[in-house]
Formats: sequence, C-alpha cells, structure tokens
Amino acid sequence: MANDKEKSEILSISATVDVPYNYSAGYFVSRYLTELQENKKFLGVKCPKCNKVYVPPRVVCRDCFVKNEEFVEVSDKGTVMAYTVTTVPYTNPNTGEPKKLPFTAAYIQLDGTDTSIMHCLEEGDESKLKTGMRVQAVFAESRSGDHFTDIKHFKTIEE
Ligand SMILES: [Zn+2]
Repeated sequence: MANDKEKSEILSISATVDVPYNYSAGYFVSRYLTELQENKKFLGVKCPKCNKVYVPPRVVCRDCFVKNEEFVEVSDKGTVMAYTVTTVPYTNPNTGEPKKLPFTAAYIQLDGTDTSIMHCLEEGDESKLKTGMRVQAVFAESRSGDHFTDIKHFKTIEE
C-alpha cells in the first residue's frame, strides 16, 4: 500500500498530439472562399431582420436567430478593431516556414459589415499601429480558395 506522499503525487504523461483534419466549409463559406479565389472580392450575408452583415457568411443571425439568405459584396477596405504584435519565433504548422518577426495579427472590420475577420497586417513600423486605422486587403497572385493564403495580408492606407 502506498504511503501518503505517494498518494498525493499526480502522474502524468507528456506527449504532443498532431491531429491534422479537414472539414466541410459548407455552402455559405464555400461561396465566400470561391469569391476570394476567383474574383478577389469579399462576400457576406445580410440578416433579413436586423440587417447585420456577416463576413465570413453564416447561415443564421447570431442575434435574431433567423436564416440569412441575401449574399452581399462588401469592400476590401476596413478598420483595425484590435491587433497584437508577435515577437517570438513562430513556424507555420502547415508549411513549416518560420514567420518573419515581428508580425501583426489584426481583427479587421470590413466596410459595410458588422463582424471582424482575423488576418496579418503589414504596416512596416509597429509603432504606428493603432486601432481605428484604415487598411486594405492585398490578394495573392495565385489563389486556392484559402482565406489565409488567398489574402496575403492587409496593408495600411491613407484616405
Ligand atoms: Zn439579425
């Protein structure tokens, strides 16, 4: 029988679990990704009750619980709602490529929408970053229907 000290020790197993997966994007997000890939445009959906516009599109309005059915094209320009600057090494788990440091991830509300999307923001001088700044999407020349690679990043713009 174990003594009191042995009973209080918590056993653990250390392991790294790599679980790659794919899931269906569904009709709404598939239309969004196809529009990015083929036309370099952002597609959202509008709630028929409260008129909120969701990007990426979602089937049901989160506030009204009614089905969204009207697809609307929205601007590739938007406003930085929040951001974070990363200065610690990061390797893209999909490509194995290290990310150039520092890099910035931002929540961006595209004009004409009521939601934010997350993406990389390239300003060049992190000291100039601030919420409320205006940005525009920069699209990749070669696109594959992937939100994070079809949009290379967002850049700051003067208006
Ligand atoms: Zn609504």
